Amino acid sequence: DPTKHADWEIAQEAETRMKTVYQIGEELGLEKEELLPYGHYVAKLDYRRILDRLGDKSDGKYVDVTAITPTPLGEGKSTSAMGLVQGLGKRNKSVIGAIRQPSGGPTMNIKGSAAGGGLAQCIPLNEFSLGLTGDINAIMNAHNLGMVALTSRMQHEANYTDEQLAQRNLKRLDIHPKKVEFRWIIDFCAQALRNITIGIGGKADGFTMQSSFGIAVSSEIMAILAVATDLADMRRRISKIVVAYDKQDRPITTADLEVDGAMTAWMVQAINPNLMQTLEGQPVLVHAGPFANIAIGQSSVIADRVGLKLADYNVTESGFGADIGFEKFWNLKCRYSGNKPNCAVIVATIRALKCHGGAPIPVPGKPMPAEYKNENVGWVEAGTQNLLHHIETVKKAGINPVVCINAFYTDTDNEIKAVRRLCEAAGARVALSRHWEKGGDGAVEFADAVIDACEEPNDFKFLYDLDTPLDKRIELIAKEVYGADGVTYSADAAAKLKRLSADPDMATMGTCMVKTHLSLSHDPKVKGVPKGWTLPVGDILTYKGAGFVVPVAGTISLMPGTGSDPAYRRVDVDLESGRVTGVF
Ligand code: ADP
Repeated sequence: DPTKHADWEIAQEAETRMKTVYQIGEELGLEKEELLPYGHYVAKLDYRRILDRLGDKSDGKYVDVTAITPTPLGEGKSTSAMGLVQGLGKRNKSVIGAIRQPSGGPTMNIKGSAAGGGLAQCIPLNEFSLGLTGDINAIMNAHNLGMVALTSRMQHEANYTDEQLAQRNLKRLDIHPKKVEFRWIIDFCAQALRNITIGIGGKADGFTMQSSFGIAVSSEIMAILAVATDLADMRRRISKIVVAYDKQDRPITTADLEVDGAMTAWMVQAINPNLMQTLEGQPVLVHAGPFANIAIGQSSVIADRVGLKLADYNVTESGFGADIGFEKFWNLKCRYSGNKPNCAVIVATIRALKCHGGAPIPVPGKPMPAEYKNENVGWVEAGTQNLLHHIETVKKAGINPVVCINAFYTDTDNEIKAVRRLCEAAGARVALSRHWEKGGDGAVEFADAVIDACEEPNDFKFLYDLDTPLDKRIELIAKEVYGADGVTYSADAAAKLKRLSADPDMATMGTCMVKTHLSLSHDPKVKGVPKGWTLPVGDILTYKGAGFVVPVAGTISLMPGTGSDPAYRRVDVDLESGRVTGVF
């Protein structure tokens, strides 16, 4: 009973009965060498062998799970993605889920690991939450090696003459110490590492300069893991990472440091997706990371390609609301993968809709306002405007929207009817789903709606082509997806826009927006559907390795902070069984 037990307690109980990874591999029809077990309940899949063997097989149906604009009340996207996989399982469909690996930072801070919740989860939970098969460690090693190469090169160039460098077969790169773009990474929320000085000591202790740490999942290598199509593509992208600029303002790459091959060497296992399972034993692929700022914030292209070959339905998830997560799924991930989605699910809760409709915004740590416990159809109707906006976004991609109302015990029939009426009038299928409370049995109406939506023909199309000029792309996203009237640029952003518009590489680069996920606009306080506003772009960053231009309409934090009541206070180990307790 999920109302009486924490998510992690439910997961632990289910883990006493879970399938071995060999059994799941057999059910998926995998050949022996394709399954690379890490213990008995987790494996990596050899993506190369699987795609070589099944290359000619037609793909399964491709379903993306996204949501309304997030509120402090939570929408339950991961829970609903797992619920859908379990519901499709109840309908005897061959189905696989594809989700992101959580970051140690939020897991030990406040967010938890996002493995779902209640009776719809991905297990084994502790493995999922605490590093899994080490992909993030591999990213840290690859990335920090790049930093080691950069900082030691700066020291050697400072200490050696040109002749001495030539004796070592090195050419002076002349890196500008104030124009170092790369930073160190660690997978925790460690605000004390945001601004640091390194190389303090003597000449032998490195070049003294300002530096910083980011959270590991914000690494460009993580962004590359998410979009790479194979090892060769990954190698090529890693070699293009710009780590700094020289004194003439020319870019210095990992290839200039001759470290790109070694960085890729750390990633040869990490490129294979991880196989796990739902609480009810359907396969789930877990791969790549949760950072939707300078990256796409979704599981990997490789995991989806594998999932679409192995099952008739591949259910994946996009972070945040449809304006952020789905837009990147649509115009970036699907462009890189070449996969065409059949339908997108927009998850909403009645409580979150009330919040968009004008009910007082709950304050963390304070009791939930009574407005969320009592029926109020007016607020629900007003808040459904936000949901309708996201339905329109999905329709602009030419695919079929399904609304999933993730049921809470406080919802009333009249409130649910109001959402159904408004969304059906807008051309979406609507399903009420009780997967959190009942698992797959509670999600069959949801599964049926998705099955029907996938049977319907669709006309998937991108919002822009890659030959669309950058300013036009940004304007299309701002107007068509966010609902802005237009876009303004700071002087700095305008200069970069001009420079980038003349860059021949633009024709192969995607546009990966940074904007708050808490509002359709750039102002996190504005709920519902803001009208009469323009999107201010303050900066434009370039990630040549990942292949993104990143227009920034908000603040980017590459290193979140840990608060005063972090989750780690409640994590421990049961010394009898050796099991971890309290990780959610
Ligand atoms: P998101 O992916 O949108 O961030 P999650 O799926 O991770 O949200 O869910 C966040 C939390 O909310 C989890 O602890 C989960 O157990 C809880 N939750 C989700 N759906 C429900 C529901 N229908 N009823 C009660 N709690 C829920």
